[in-house]
Amino acid sequence: MSDFSSFNFSGHKALVRVDFNVPLDDQFNITDDTRMTATIPTIKKILADGGSAILMSHLGRPKDGPTDNYSLKHLVKHLSELLGGQTKVFFANNCIGEQAGMTASMLRGGEVLLLENLRFYKEEEKGDKAFAEKLSKLGDVYVNDAFGTAHRAHASTAVIADFFPADKKMFGLLMEAEVKSAEKVLHQSEKPFCAIIGGAKVSDKILIIENLLERATDIIIGGGMAYTFLKARGGNIGNSLCEDDRLQTALDILEKAKQKNVSIHLPETSVIADKFAADANTQECPSDQIPAGWMGLDIGGKAVGIFSETIKKSKTILWNGPMGVFEMEKFQNGTKSIALAVAESTANGAFSLVGGGDSVAAVNKFNLADKVSYVSTGGGALLEYFEGKELPGIAAINK
Ligand code: AMP
Repeated sequence: MSDFSSFNFSGHKALVRVDFNVPLDDQFNITDDTRMTATIPTIKKILADGGSAILMSHLGRPKDGPTDNYSLKHLVKHLSELLGGQTKVFFANNCIGEQAGMTASMLRGGEVLLLENLRFYKEEEKGDKAFAEKLSKLGDVYVNDAFGTAHRAHASTAVIADFFPADKKMFGLLMEAEVKSAEKVLHQSEKPFCAIIGGAKVSDKILIIENLLERATDIIIGGGMAYTFLKARGGNIGNSLCEDDRLQTALDILEKAKQKNVSIHLPETSVIADKFAADANTQECPSDQIPAGWMGLDIGGKAVGIFSETIKKSKTILWNGPMGVFEMEKFQNGTKSIALAVAESTANGAFSLVGGGDSVAAVNKFNLADKVSYVSTGGGALLEYFEGKELPGIAAINK
């Protein structure tokens, strides 16, 4: 593979896989453009060198071919604005075929072409070779800057790389930064290394916890998933979220942690509610003594204190998943306090990586995104990376 930063794109047509899978409202306004802004430096470098950029992405989950509401045409205006307004941005109403081919071939240095939604073809998700080859013909250099889909072995994210020689395929700047920060945490972590895992379900996080048991010093478990662990240890959790078919898994994890000398921290106290609603009655109690009819929707004050102390003495921090139902004001204190502790630890020299949809939403909500070392754009991709899996999008370039 080539090094993006030192590659001179002058005279090249770079075919760039971006992740423009942004949320749109019913008027097709982009409600969060983070994924687009994250890849702009990559596009700008190609254009500044005198190259042209052919951008390909998916948007949403179209089921049966082209539909207007999943068209990438809705993004053209904003893309043009993000590039400064002077750059010519063309749109092809297909990602393969005559019009795409013609526009790509006529593209001049400094110009951009956005292709229509890749997932209008079933071949994309199937990783179809013939489809990947057709896409590959549009450019002479392949750049993968879509970390958000790096865990998918799709035509445009992985299979396509086989149609480019080693010196004509590379990661873009975003992908490079994502991989670098994830590697730093997983393979070069300075100790103590604290992983904060939260969110709703244990079943989604078993593999990541098991892999982290090999590397972390401390694992903090919060959010809805903590109650499965607490029940497994014999606690009363009332109506709190619980996966009864995972109780044994939870016990196995606790036992393994003991053997490996990893400290697992469960919330000692919880903010409990009499219903799952913003206007519920609330009180605090020990997390293993939740009365019948009540449910734990946030970590309590004592848990915040203990978790924060652990975070503040750590040198490496990974955070995936909120500590409570942070979308509701009454249950946001735990997540907010943990975000502040991560920010404080970062200010004191720790390396902190925040990833996974909801923890990113949380640091954004509390305006702390620029107070942590790195905020990942990859949800599922980051999770799979930390589960220890080889991501097809990364492997295809490295190979
Ligand atoms: P995940 O997608 O698994 O990371 O879960 C994120 C979701 O978990 C968020 O929408 C939170 O509101 C929710 N969540 C966090 N803590 C709890 C809890 N104690 N009970 C129910 N839901 C929770």
